Amino acid sequence: MALFVQKYGGSSVADAECMRRVAKRIYDTQQAGNQVVVVVSAMGDTTDDLIALAKQVNPEPNEREMDSLMATGEMASSAILTMALHAIGAKAISMTGHQAGIRVDGTHLKAKIQKIDPKRIRRHLDQGCVVVVAGFQGMNPSEDVATLGRGGSDTTAVALAAALKADRCQILKDVDGVFTANPRVVPSARKLDEIAYEEMLELASAGSEVLQSRAVEYAKNYGVVLEVLSSFEVKPGTLVREEDEEMEQMIIRGIAADKNQAKATLLGVPDTPGVAARIFKSLAAANINVDMIVQNVSAAGVTDVSFTVAKDDIAKTRRVIEPLVKAVKAAGLNFDGDIAKVSIVGVGMKSHSGVAYKMFEVLAENRINIEMISTSEIKISVAIRAKEADQAVRSLHAAFGMAKAPARKAAKKRK
Ligand code: ASP
Ligand code: MG
Repeated sequence: MALFVQKYGGSSVADAECMRRVAKRIYDTQQAGNQVVVVVSAMGDTTDDLIALAKQVNPEPNEREMDSLMATGEMASSAILTMALHAIGAKAISMTGHQAGIRVDGTHLKAKIQKIDPKRIRRHLDQGCVVVVAGFQGMNPSEDVATLGRGGSDTTAVALAAALKADRCQILKDVDGVFTANPRVVPSARKLDEIAYEEMLELASAGSEVLQSRAVEYAKNYGVVLEVLSSFEVKPGTLVREEDEEMEQMIIRGIAADKNQAKATLLGVPDTPGVAARIFKSLAAANINVDMIVQNVSAAGVTDVSFTVAKDDIAKTRRVIEPLVKAVKAAGLNFDGDIAKVSIVGVGMKSHSGVAYKMFEVLAENRINIEMISTSEIKISVAIRAKEADQAVRSLHAAFGMAKAPARKAAKKRK
């Protein structure tokens, strides 16, 4: 008997009909002779709606209360899905994160899972139940509910799979798997059979919304192989796993565009030691994630420093940086919300040269101006005008020949 952890995302459980379809799929999995633990997201856009509602009564809602509010979305969907399972004759029970034994640290809105005691889940599994766990949440050291950050149900699923030593961790979505690029932007984008953890991590932080990056990190650390697949049709998806010889040999595995970034520029900053440290220390203290950073060559002892942050963090960044403008004697501060970050990702870059050159050349041929560049061993990102992002992604996808499956070096043993 195999143990499956199946996670269903918000759009897969958006309404009663979706719930019934998902219930059937879960029941089929169990009837095939498996134990099944299900993790659900909130139905459809519930989380966004709850956030919007909170902001109507208070523009800066308290974080503890936000967590109490948002966690209800997943609680509701776990109960409804369990009722749908009962309706088709399945034995099933729903659990909140707390009831499932998920303990998290003290940071509201971005809590990290610290430990899971799966005793109660095991007991119900042994009684033949499907256990439906509310994703995205756990109990913190003060016995309060805390959530795991947007998309956090993925992490719940991976963490449960690790704690239960599950045989499969399936992430079921409204897409067929992980694609070389967003198929809505690039019609010839291809579903990948496999992708390395490292690549998936880079793509997730580059704006691909397929999986939460923390979930991928967790999966990598605990060696949980993830399967991203369609919740609508039964067919193979994409395996996310450790890279090896058998994987398709591609220089670039995926392209992502992130239009949720904004560029902040501190103008006329004195070019003296300690200034950058001061700026980025304040940002770090405020928990603001900085992505790309560019400092110009200084002229006459002053320089401009630009960096990107999530659009949602603009107000917070302004609040943190404005006092610094005076303190470090900078000339001013401005924000630009019309940028997009386009990234190409692939472990093949480690052993191939000329990838950056080719990327820049393709952009140049398309008369797309590059405003910022950042790289890692397996990723190159550029910030460009937001309105040029789709064209950039399409041209890069074509130039790197990503629509066609490459040959494999080693014989494929997996299915
Ligand atoms: N419902 C939460 C969100 O929309 C968590 C999740 O879907 O995984 O971000
Ligand atoms: Mg959601």
